[in-house]
Amino acid sequence: MPECPVCGAEVTVTDDVVEGELLVCDDCGTELEVISVDPPKLKEAPQAEEDWGE
Ligand SMILES: [Zn+2]
Repeated sequence: MPECPVCGAEVTVTDDVVEGELLVCDDCGTELEVISVDPPKLKEAPQAEEDWGE
């Protein structure tokens, strides 16, 4: 299992997780983005709301 980059807790990912998927850490509630699936790696998702404009 990948670790939350914020609090270090293990984050459960499903077998069919895809790159770019957003997860929420159960432990600290941080939104995390899947940046790699093999092996699974997570990074903190951007917090700021972006206006994509289109
Ligand atoms: Zn966490």
